Amino acid sequence: MDNKELADLIFPDVKDISYYEAKYPERNLPEGAIVTRFAPSPTGFVHVGGIMQCVINRQLTNQTNGVLLLRIEDTDQKREIDNGISQIVNSVHDFGIDFDEGMINETEEKGAYGPYKQSARGEIYRAYAKWLIEKGRAYPCFATPEELEEMRQKQESLKIRTGYYGVWAKYRNLPIENAIEKIKNGEPYIVRFKSMGKEDRKIRHHDVIKGNIDFPENDQDIVIIKADGLPTYHFAHAVDDHLMRVTHVIRSDEWVSSIPLHLELFQTLEFKTPKYCHYAPILKEEDGKKRKISKRKDPEAAVSYYHEEGIPAQAVCEYLMNIGNSNFEGWRRANPDRPISEFKFELSKMSTSGAIFDVVKLLDVSKNVISKYTKEEVYNASLEWAKRYDDELREMLERDKEYALAVFGIERGNVKPRKDISKWSDVKNSIIYMFDDKFENSDEEYEFQKITDKDEIKKILQSYMDKHYNPEDDKQTWFDRMKDLAEEMGYAREVKEYKQNPDSYEGHVGDVSTVLRVALTRRANTPDLYEIMQVIGKDRIEKRFNKIINQ
Ligand code: GLU
Repeated sequence: MDNKELADLIFPDVKDISYYEAKYPERNLPEGAIVTRFAPSPTGFVHVGGIMQCVINRQLTNQTNGVLLLRIEDTDQKREIDNGISQIVNSVHDFGIDFDEGMINETEEKGAYGPYKQSARGEIYRAYAKWLIEKGRAYPCFATPEELEEMRQKQESLKIRTGYYGVWAKYRNLPIENAIEKIKNGEPYIVRFKSMGKEDRKIRHHDVIKGNIDFPENDQDIVIIKADGLPTYHFAHAVDDHLMRVTHVIRSDEWVSSIPLHLELFQTLEFKTPKYCHYAPILKEEDGKKRKISKRKDPEAAVSYYHEEGIPAQAVCEYLMNIGNSNFEGWRRANPDRPISEFKFELSKMSTSGAIFDVVKLLDVSKNVISKYTKEEVYNASLEWAKRYDDELREMLERDKEYALAVFGIERGNVKPRKDISKWSDVKNSIIYMFDDKFENSDEEYEFQKITDKDEIKKILQSYMDKHYNPEDDKQTWFDRMKDLAEEMGYAREVKEYKQNPDSYEGHVGDVSTVLRVALTRRANTPDLYEIMQVIGKDRIEKRFNKIINQ
């Protein structure tokens, strides 16, 4: 009796691996093209680290005319949720990233290297497992869960490595006749890989990001096909990356410790090993200590956070690119208006120690991104956000679109655009005083600054309305008239003049214009006052001034 007989008994009707090798040929791509994959479980949850992986993968595959595919790793069916795949596809799509190949939703896919869902690839894995049995590099294991648990406890009490390896691998050398007999008797079993590694031997592996790393060889006889006929992750990913002709495995370094096993699997399966690129995960700082960003502790770990806060996807992508290649920031400064796709991303420049995720920095990136949006873009994006998260803002934006557009047009589209919005949830506060009902009912105090005397304030507003206000004025004339008003009231026309002779004046033109600003907005800090006055118009201005004058 030989391995072939055992293999035929375990997998009687699978195809020869030559069938799959021919069906999924080497890809015909330009030299240097990167083929890589995003390979989540269908839990529906996408972690910000997953988005970072997609951002990097997309950039690299675009740069090299390569392929980015979405493979769903659903061999652990306990973790599945309804619509988990669609949720992943949509979450990634919301960040402007689409896949060239792979699953599109729960059942559909595109591409010639599928199926792209592991649960639909059972016969492929079984074909390769069979081939390994024929080669003498896989075998059935009849250990019961109780036996395995007993083994683990023994290993722990002896303080040695746990696992199924070396002398502990009880069924590794079971004579073939006995294995065949047990199977024919209906004894339950799973299929294990037969490792030839030795723990006391070292291998040197070159990781594209981390450089050379020395590891002990793998010696674990891991399970490759489970009792349910499905493969384990390690085995499945090796078969898939080979048949999907993946050239680069780019993933977070939590997988580094699996390298010795993955290398042995690739070699034993006679597959060309892809290039491994393990980058440091995104970190958070807590109480002065760094730790991995966590789905449980950090709201910003979930992509839903960015939707809820209204941080544009483009800003998140820019920030993640920054975490990926720290020279991105300098590139962006030098090329403020170029699309992100023009940045040359380099794996070799990725951090091996991990970058801290800093929401303040992200918001800073975001405010720059939003400052370049047109008023229409700001209107559309904030309305879309408001429809989901803020009905009051939705109503403000929808009641008079033209007016809302004019409001968003203030200090926008010029060389120094306004930067007071870093997320759509900031919008309401930044424009609320432009809307009469909100302004009327606001409980914000008038923040008059230097000039606090009520009569003086009233006099300034009255004189402005009576003598110095003309809605037709251009900005220069408007400002000159403001200076006239200042002079008339005993304030310096220029700040400089005032500074030279502070005792000769009540103050300067800036103090006077602040009175107007606060009367019109209740705030001391706003975008350009001239533009605000142009947008709110004469009637509102008079009404708001009168409100104070008549107090
Ligand atoms: N399914 C694995 C995960 O959930 C994929 C790991 C890999 O990229 O090889 O992260």
